[in-house]
Amino acid sequence: MPELPEVEIIRRGLEQLAVGRAIAEVSCSEPRSFPGFSPSVASTIIGTAITTIDRRGKLLIAHLDNGYSLLIHLRMTGQLVFRPAKKRLQATREQDPFASNADDGSFGGGHPNASLIRDLPDKTTRVIFRFSDDSQLYFNDQRKFGSIRMVPRSEVADDSFMQRLGPEPLLEDFTWQELKDRLPLNSRQPVKAALLDQSVIAGIGNIYADESLFGAGIHPLRPVLSLSDNDIERLHESIRCCLQQSIDDGGSTARNYVDSQGMRGEYLDLHAKVFNRTGQTCCRCGHTIEKTRVAGRGTHICPRCQK
Ligand SMILES: [Zn+2]
Repeated sequence: MPELPEVEIIRRGLEQLAVGRAIAEVSCSEPRSFPGFSPSVASTIIGTAITTIDRRGKLLIAHLDNGYSLLIHLRMTGQLVFRPAKKRLQATREQDPFASNADDGSFGGGHPNASLIRDLPDKTTRVIFRFSDDSQLYFNDQRKFGSIRMVPRSEVADDSFMQRLGPEPLLEDFTWQELKDRLPLNSRQPVKAALLDQSVIAGIGNIYADESLFGAGIHPLRPVLSLSDNDIERLHESIRCCLQQSIDDGGSTARNYVDSQGMRGEYLDLHAKVFNRTGQTCCRCGHTIEKTRVAGRGTHICPRCQK
């Protein structure tokens, strides 16, 4: 599931590629993927252009120049793929049959499967935006938990999903005291479960919960009520550090994943210390990384470093 850094990478890519292009056509083949979609919604969208793309937690918000915004939630298997006009694709492939999809101006992010690079639409394609220059933006979603919703821009901040989101961890004014205020301090809930709760802090999923807790030396099963101020301070620092590091690395590595510059995300290869490293040695103490289950999720820890 894409987490904050992966969604931020998509936001940056689409900001380069999709902003300013006029939408000539929009189609939706799966009602669950665009609740409320109708010919009248389509005609509201057609002829407009995306002016800016924001992110809140794992949610992308594409603002249109007609006073509406599209709230795009990728959930488990959603992905956004931008493809330049077919003519340009063909020309690139005729010149160089081995050209990677990054060379032709394609861009994709989100769930790492072959739909990021193969011909589209495919059977996972739910929504297609075609721009006036014939380039396209595909919303693919194998398992259909993701969605696009159109709301008036003036109502975005009051949207019930947005209202439930906790603070944005990379904002400069997000302090450790704010994290403390949000944590259920009287609860025996495991700290990892609290980090996965989007109303405590926005944007963290399984990868960055495990990495942040390792960075802070905190065992994911620790009840929130056992955390000292010092623990929370270290956790706050570690969360910000892991998320920023991953954005700098282009997100977590995923097969076929390329950003708008044609770079693959390298966070898991370069900087992840415990996630997907079961059986490897801990970089700090040499103990073996173990996998366990916390809050129903596969969880990676160093049992010596995390107390
Ligand atoms: Zn260790």
